[in-house]
Amino acid sequence: MSKNIQSVRGMHDVLPADVKPWQQLEHSLRSLMHAYGYQEIRLPLLEKTELFARSIGDVTDIVEKEMYTFEDRSGESLSLRPEGTASCVRAGIQHGLLHNQIQKLWYMGTMYRHERPQKGRYREFSQLGVEAFGLGGPDIDAELIIMGARLWRELGLNNICLELNSLGTHQERATYREALTEYFKSRFNELDADSRARLDRNPLRILDSKNPEMQPLIGIAPVLSDYLGAESSSHFQGLLERLNKAGIDYQLNPRLVRGLDYYNLTVFEWTTNELGAQGTVCAGGRYDGLVAQLGGSATPAIGFAMGLERLLALLQKNTEPQPAGSPDVYIITIGEAAEAGGLSFAESVRNILPGRSIVYHCGPGGLKNRLKRADRSGAELALIIGDDELAKQTVLAKPLRNTTDSQLEVAEAALEDYLKTYFINR
Ligand code: ATP
Ligand code: MG
Repeated sequence: MSKNIQSVRGMHDVLPADVKPWQQLEHSLRSLMHAYGYQEIRLPLLEKTELFARSIGDVTDIVEKEMYTFEDRSGESLSLRPEGTASCVRAGIQHGLLHNQIQKLWYMGTMYRHERPQKGRYREFSQLGVEAFGLGGPDIDAELIIMGARLWRELGLNNICLELNSLGTHQERATYREALTEYFKSRFNELDADSRARLDRNPLRILDSKNPEMQPLIGIAPVLSDYLGAESSSHFQGLLERLNKAGIDYQLNPRLVRGLDYYNLTVFEWTTNELGAQGTVCAGGRYDGLVAQLGGSATPAIGFAMGLERLLALLQKNTEPQPAGSPDVYIITIGEAAEAGGLSFAESVRNILPGRSIVYHCGPGGLKNRLKRADRSGAELALIIGDDELAKQTVLAKPLRNTTDSQLEVAEAALEDYLKTYFINR
């Protein structure tokens, strides 16, 4: 006996009964982007592997061990996108959107990382990504954060906290990196295997360790803020002032370094303690060097990415479950003659009720069975045409939810008025 094929580990179907919260969240996100004047950009799922190696960094977790990389039929190395920033920058350079321009862009879609699947961590997951190009001052940093705060407020989520840090310039980070390497080398015996591996290649990543046993050691490591120059400090102060003015609470976290190489100056994460270990719902930062690094002209940039599965899990904890969508009208035709005109009748009902959901019953079944299906669909109203109605040019309208509304035989000519009135307040 052959076994049924299952979905790929870490990749999930969203079944019809679960799709509503997704749609609502996507709608909220689109409205948010519109409210701030950001424009949507749609990017491919596949890119040349080199793009990610050159942007995210060769010695990051993502590029070293999480990418879905393969050779296509012509032998070119391609990867499923593990994140969207690299593609967005690539597209911006390729289409001349970035040179001497300001662009505020967003995208939404699936990302792919070969990680160990667990709650809140999947191999296919969705992100909203927001990127702003051409703006070097702290006001855009603040705007992106204010935008996040508005979203949490609109979604009714009040248990999301902001953590902030500044990574300074690459030069400042290099000096800090030396100090950090020195420190961890002197405590080499206390490092776990992961951290030892990171020590030479990317010591800042040790600060990002999720191993609780490493935390005391990390807690007393040198901090980056002590290595920031005047300009970096003033950018960071500028951001903090704007957040204070906007009434946004934050926590300074000198250990926040983010897992990607391309960040500089501002980095931030929105986290919650309601989701266990996978508590970061949104993360971002400034990446002023990336556009030039990928071949464009030097362009300041900042962005963030939001994990939609984590956000939905949080929403589910904080809001009442919503019923799956039901149709407004369920149309039943009975008998060969009525059935022959059924689909075009359904079209005319859709013309009368734009935006409403109209289901036409296809397939076999007697009247009783069809009515049962109409009822189970959750529809407000059934419209029934049998031989009798066809002969009299009428339609039987049967309210299914509100039993105080009685069943009515409506002349076809009067159907438009009837339907419009019926649905006026529903
Ligand atoms: P983490 O530290 O949790 O691995 P990250 O720093 O790798 O996160 P980013 O690359 O900054 O994550 O992605 C931004 C957001 O996307 C994360 O904050 C999280 O909400 C979400 N995200 C990242 N990886 C996954 C995943 N494997 N499954 C589900 N959501 C994810
Ligand atoms: Mg990760």
